[in-house]
Amino acid sequence: MHSKWLNRKYFNTMAYKISTDCVACGTCIDECPVGAISEGEHYSIDPEVCIECGTCEGVCPSGAISL
Ligand code: SF4
Ligand code: SF4
Repeated sequence: MHSKWLNRKYFNTMAYKISTDCVACGTCIDECPVGAISEGEHYSIDPEVCIECGTCEGVCPSGAISL
């Protein structure tokens, strides 16, 4: 019961991640509904905040975002 939620919340096994392929275009940060993405040389996703909606993965022009 609630095992998927617990897994994500406490062990972070399924959060989306941004790789070094990120070119810091800024597209994903405006699309994230929960503000989980932070700016940087390579952008990053806070696994404690990400709800795994997948929106950022779909908008990234460099394919840098995946589970
Ligand atoms: S998967 Fe959704 S919630 Fe998670 S960082 Fe991407 S846009 Fe934000
Ligand atoms: S959309 Fe992709 S390339 Fe652009 S900032 Fe986000 S992760 Fe980086």
